[in-house]
Amino acid sequence: MAKESKENSRRQFIKSGAVAIFGLAALGGGVSYLRSVNGPDDTRTPYFLRPPGAIAESDFIYGCIKCGLCVQICPIDAIKLAGIDSGLSYGTPYIDVRTQPCDFSCDSLQCVETCPTAVLDFKPYEIAGGNAIAAYQKEHDVAEVGFNPFPIQIKAMKEEVRMGRAHVNKNTCLAHQGKGFKGVSRGLDFEGVYRSPDSKFKKATPLRDIEFDRETCNLCVTECPIGETAIIFSPRRRDGKMRPKVLDACTGCGVCVMVCPTEEPSIIVDPDLTHLSSGRGRHV
Ligand code: SF4
Ligand code: SF4
Ligand code: SF4
Repeated sequence: MAKESKENSRRQFIKSGAVAIFGLAALGGGVSYLRSVNGPDDTRTPYFLRPPGAIAESDFIYGCIKCGLCVQICPIDAIKLAGIDSGLSYGTPYIDVRTQPCDFSCDSLQCVETCPTAVLDFKPYEIAGGNAIAAYQKEHDVAEVGFNPFPIQIKAMKEEVRMGRAHVNKNTCLAHQGKGFKGVSRGLDFEGVYRSPDSKFKKATPLRDIEFDRETCNLCVTECPIGETAIIFSPRRRDGKMRPKVLDACTGCGVCVMVCPTEEPSIIVDPDLTHLSSGRGRHV
């Protein structure tokens, strides 16, 4: 009898242990749904935004060896490793664009170059890079021999390595309310950096060092590292009011999300769910 009761408690112990482990794993998975692309309090975007060049999420999770080399090489600390509350994504790299986006200021996508397993990979973008070189050669009548394609290829890669796409929230966007913005957009304590298109500096500098003064807010438009193929300030058909409009070349880099001065960002990035060649759509 005593033996049977001991066996029962052992079974009970194993059962409750299994329930606890399962519960923790489920909790981890659940919390990872709340981990945001657009800041720690954002529950609107239940995905991780992976670094540039990430392959399909299902392959990425198993192929990434969590070595952290991409984290170390990034000169602006844009890449973080997901915490223990992230379910299967624990230890894998992601970018929170409200805090620190990838502004491409390393100029060579160093995270992609350094990844030892090629889960960050240039391959899906080689065609675009090749096309850009061919177009440049045609336009400038440059002979192939002796021509160094590297800078153009890198430019093409930057524009092609799509992480997601930005969307404007019309209800909170200052421009949509006809309002301007004057001041330091995220406050003097904010630590994010980027290379403003207006900057005379080659390196990224703190956002808090820049004072904006706009009659109608358009920071997301003017600070975008890709430029007018990604986002424009254009008149609304209904009333002619100027407002930001995201275009197809948006890479989802999220610089616009970082610079947006409203309390909750009025522009957010959704990881790209349709760019199948590079397998975006990472639901964690
Ligand atoms: S360098 Fe590649 S393998 Fe290493 S953590 Fe980054 S994505 Fe994963
Ligand atoms: S920065 Fe924000 S508030 Fe300003 S126009 Fe862009 S989305 Fe609207
Ligand atoms: S609009 Fe520009 S800044 Fe915003 S995510 Fe797209 S490419 Fe980046």
